Amino acid sequence: MNILIMGGPGAGKGTVSSKIVNQFKILHISTGDIFRSEISLQTELGLTAKKYIDQGLLVPDEVTNAMVKSFLEKQDISNGYLLDGYPRTLAQAEAFDKLVKGTDLEIDKVVALEIPFDVLSSRITGRRLCKSCGAIYHITYSPSKKEADCEKCDGVLYQRKDDTLESLEVRLEEYSKNANPILTYYSSKGLVSTVDANQSLETVWKETLIVLGENK
Ligand SMILES: [Zn+2]
Repeated sequence: MNILIMGGPGAGKGTVSSKIVNQFKILHISTGDIFRSEISLQTELGLTAKKYIDQGLLVPDEVTNAMVKSFLEKQDISNGYLLDGYPRTLAQAEAFDKLVKGTDLEIDKVVALEIPFDVLSSRITGRRLCKSCGAIYHITYSPSKKEADCEKCDGVLYQRKDDTLESLEVRLEEYSKNANPILTYYSSKGLVSTVDANQSLETVWKETLIVLGENK
């Protein structure tokens, strides 16, 4: 089975991805992996991509798309693959579909992890970390027994710079801008299943297995 996983910041995409890969024994493919592999193998595409990266430029879609296909062709994908972080734009999604059309590399299923904005914002903006030992608290869900200090080491608790509402909104907007057209596109092909990520990991995983056709 060939799966694409989508999920914005805080949706738990990393955790679910590794569970899918273990469960289905499929290849986990992230764009970072592909770029690293093609560049270290010094393929023509890899070298082209490197030129852009070295100049601090975005790698053009056609290079990225061709690189993804070339990478997939070299892997053992008899069980399928999990795409993670690619396609990143609608243009990439359409181009990738064209590249793999009629081959056994076509995407079979898109899993979209969804989490309501207010839940996400309270999860992220309430997070506090200990400066000394790195312990993680949440002002509502798991507050320190010593309020502003760490209950383990008395260290000072602080809020990470990225954990503000403004920063979260920027990250979410960036994600939605690209993800929404991709999801609309794959929905029109009947491939998308959404999973409510605002649940325990156990429940999220159970639902993921169901949408992937493993009823357990
Ligand atoms: Zn501490």
